[in-house]
Amino acid sequence: MPELPEVETFKRYLESTSLHQRITGVQVRDAYVLKRISARELARLKGRRFENSHRHGKHLFVRADNELWLRLHFGMTGWLQYLKRDEETPKTVRVLFSFANNRRLAFDDQRKFGEIELIKDVDEFLQTRGVGSDALEISLSQFKAIVGKHRGAVKTILLNQQLIAGIGNLYADEILFRARMHPAIAAASLSDKDLRRLFRAMRYVLEKAIALKTDFNRLPKSWLLPHRGKRGRCPRCGRALKSATIGGRTSWFCAHCQERAHSKVTPAT
Ligand SMILES: [Zn+2]
Repeated sequence: MPELPEVETFKRYLESTSLHQRITGVQVRDAYVLKRISARELARLKGRRFENSHRHGKHLFVRADNELWLRLHFGMTGWLQYLKRDEETPKTVRVLFSFANNRRLAFDDQRKFGEIELIKDVDEFLQTRGVGSDALEISLSQFKAIVGKHRGAVKTILLNQQLIAGIGNLYADEILFRARMHPAIAAASLSDKDLRRLFRAMRYVLEKAIALKTDFNRLPKSWLLPHRGKRGRCPRCGRALKSATIGGRTSWFCAHCQERAHSKVTPAT
């Protein structure tokens, strides 16, 4: 599932390919993806240009020159492809924007959990939806205030988009592995020092993943992600990784390296 680093990578890709060109066509191949708009309304983008973009959490906002914003959410399997002039359109492409140069920007989404809509105001959207601060924009003191005051397992809080936006299941596990914290530790039991360690781990993991363009083959072998899953072994101590359901999601962790010395909360399912 695309998380903050993937969506940031899509943002950079879109900015390097699709800005400042006249949109000559908007083709909706599968209307499921449209939220609160019709294909005809989306076609208002025809004749406009994408001017810039903004990412917040897992949402990507692309400004069209008439002060309309296209909002993209990539759901489970969404991604962007800038198709060449004669390149065949894959079957899983749901919406296609054509440009004057005959290239096309494709919103590809095999599992169909993605979302596309037009909005007028990004801040208003985020406020109405109750989306929390972006994980890479949040300051240490804000982070401490949010995580420290909430009850529940630390991983559940990292995943809660209304508290901190952008972190999903995979990177949450990586962040906790780096911070050497058990995912089920009660957030309220974390010390000031723990919170600082967790904050630094969060920033490091997200920034490093972006720097590697989220190519999982290039992730450091010292990370959890290349080993995460059945028969996976901890890259630090070599012991078998364990899994547990926390906040309804499967967590992978090393029971030896990730301390649970703090009071542990019962995993909620
Ligand atoms: Zn270990």
